[in-house]
Amino acid sequence: MPIDATQPYDDQNIFAKILRGEIPNRTVYEDEWALAFHDINPQAPEHVLVIPKGAYVCWDDFSAKASDAEIAGFVRAVGHVARTMGLVEPGYRLLANTGLDAHQEVPHLHVHIFGGKPLGPMLMR
Ligand code: AMP
Repeated sequence: MPIDATQPYDDQNIFAKILRGEIPNRTVYEDEWALAFHDINPQAPEHVLVIPKGAYVCWDDFSAKASDAEIAGFVRAVGHVARTMGLVEPGYRLLANTGLDAHQEVPHLHVHIFGGKPLGPMLMR
């Protein structure tokens, strides 16, 4: 079910549980600011999610409330993961679904990294 991006943060969401180590994940990268792990239902040959360590519902929440250090740390982590996955030269796509129309399902900010094949046009019409 898509979520309303303006809802308060729910610390029982599945990515909060992953951050607390309550459920397993296939970690790609972790630092002070971010955790990156393989999507459980990949939509491309390479499909990794990068999430901030802080409790933010979505991109809007994060961009409005996170500190400069959190934002810098998170953005640098996304770039680092894409580089270390070898995706810069062939190219990759970032996606951060936010709220109902974007069909955001998990209410903890996550950036999808897609790659590993030509990804086609940006949106299905
Ligand atoms: P979104 O529609 O942007 O909220 O995407 C949520 C993503 O989280 C989907 O691509 C799911 O496949 C992925 N997902 C849900 N649960 C897990 C999990 N336990 N581990 C890894 N990825 C997950």
